[in-house]
Amino acid sequence: MDNCLFCKIINKQIPAAIEYETDDLLAFNDISPQAPVHILIIPKQHFNTPAELNNSYVEIAGKITAAAAEIAAKKQLNSYRLVMNCNEDAGQSVFHVHMHLLGGRKMNWPPG
Ligand code: 5GP
Ligand code: ZN
Repeated sequence: MDNCLFCKIINKQIPAAIEYETDDLLAFNDISPQAPVHILIIPKQHFNTPAELNNSYVEIAGKITAAAAEIAAKKQLNSYRLVMNCNEDAGQSVFHVHMHLLGGRKMNWPPG
């Protein structure tokens, strides 16, 4: 999609430190890490928000979660947090669906 930051990363128009790539997904390090491991897992297909990952898209939603488990295992993370922010009030700032994989430090709950 034009003018989408993460689509530009997918198309290699903007560089990113890529950790994982398949035909459907890309995962790369967050530019502003909030934990020692902070990786964003995104579908190559553009969706604005997680709300669009309805029953028509369970396969891609499942692949994102499975990729998170695979990357966490590769990083030898036993404890980690997966976050998908949906819309502004939840903290979404980039409107291309992404899952945050955060780990390597003790996390607090509930989040702010
Ligand atoms: P959100 O706030 O939408 O849930 O998460 C967006 C994430 O994208 C933020 O954690 C932010 O640091 C990250 N981000 C924003 N711009 C870039 C960029 O150009 N490159 C990378 N690698 N991450 C980015
Ligand atoms: Zn996009």
